[in-house]
Amino acid sequence: MKKVELLSPAGDLKRCITAINYGADAVYIGGKSFSLRSRASNFTMDDIREACTYANAKGAHIHVTVNMIPHDEDLEGLTEYLQQLEEAGVKAIIVASPYIMKLAKSCTSKLEVHCSTQMSVTNAEAAQFLYEQYGIDRVVLARECTLDDVRKITASCPIETESFIHGGMCVNFSGRCTLSNRMTLRDANRGGCAQSCRWSYHLYEGQEEISKDLLFTMGSKDLCAVPYIYDLMEAGVSSFKIEGRMKTEYYVASVVKAYRNLIDEIYANNGPLSNERMIYHEKQVMRAANREVWPGFYQGSDDNSLIYHNNGDAFVSHDFLGTVKAYDPQRNTAVIESRNVFQVGDTVEFLSPSTSNQPFTIESITNGKNEQIDSIRNPMSLVEIPVSFAVQKEDILRKAL
Ligand code: SF4
Repeated sequence: MKKVELLSPAGDLKRCITAINYGADAVYIGGKSFSLRSRASNFTMDDIREACTYANAKGAHIHVTVNMIPHDEDLEGLTEYLQQLEEAGVKAIIVASPYIMKLAKSCTSKLEVHCSTQMSVTNAEAAQFLYEQYGIDRVVLARECTLDDVRKITASCPIETESFIHGGMCVNFSGRCTLSNRMTLRDANRGGCAQSCRWSYHLYEGQEEISKDLLFTMGSKDLCAVPYIYDLMEAGVSSFKIEGRMKTEYYVASVVKAYRNLIDEIYANNGPLSNERMIYHEKQVMRAANREVWPGFYQGSDDNSLIYHNNGDAFVSHDFLGTVKAYDPQRNTAVIESRNVFQVGDTVEFLSPSTSNQPFTIESITNGKNEQIDSIRNPMSLVEIPVSFAVQKEDILRKAL
């Protein structure tokens, strides 16, 4: 099996560094311009340069989304922007507009052009066409592809394929939707999607409300393609994409680490894993905040009951308690910068790029005035706790709920 890239989202520099530290081979980010997800805390050009420097030093890559569907007035400064991205060391841009594909290939020399999932490529001929017309380097397949589609396209198309493996789904064919435009005057395809599909709606038949208790939502369950990872690797997919540029640092760390371990174990095993190991990996993936999940269209299902959910709230299996700021191996203590409440007696564990999770009990908490306290309630406070094994700066302290 060829090496597959694990591609993580990041909404800011901190999350980008976290993704790389936890095992991402590449990270996709959005600049301040020409990108969807305009509410994500997007990167300045200086941030992009810093992200590239950090990634390249670790053997990773940065991709930048230039995936808005531009109207004429949106195009000013685009050529210069693409050239700046190339100079900054960006490996690839993710593009949904044929014009931007063409422009990028004419005004830059090394920048790869990846065709965004918004182009809804679901067959090999479409991929071939985009390659021949615009010279694109990779196609991000539509989330609506079945495993069979992915196999056929990957086998017959001359360019790399990228498939989504985890995160939010767009209930319309990725972005081919005007719900948000209609409900909020925010253009989904120019970075403003308000996720109106996830709202709860009152249902009427004529003038009559069907039920005051029954609210209807069109939102989809989230994707979790753990059961299909081996098949997608065997199909020769070049990159596995995790959705979620708006997600937290904790989400990025835990989902990236879980998929990194799963992919590496499949390579080490040189074949599919046992049921027992798959259950283990699925549990690890689900430790981040998630909505209800399903394995997406890979299974080829057209059963709507699998797609829709009735509750858009994310459920959380673990609380993110804080991050390690220092570890003293002489005294076996760690300084923690708190994020959520924790107390003496809590059973907790560290999420770390380098060590496996080891549950332990917090035996004491010492505050900045060297006083023993029972609990810490204020976020961003520094406290010290005893830890009998070595931990690294920025490891994440968490507690099962
Ligand atoms: S409102 Fe929902 S279906 Fe429409 S573009 Fe946004 S996420 Fe997709």
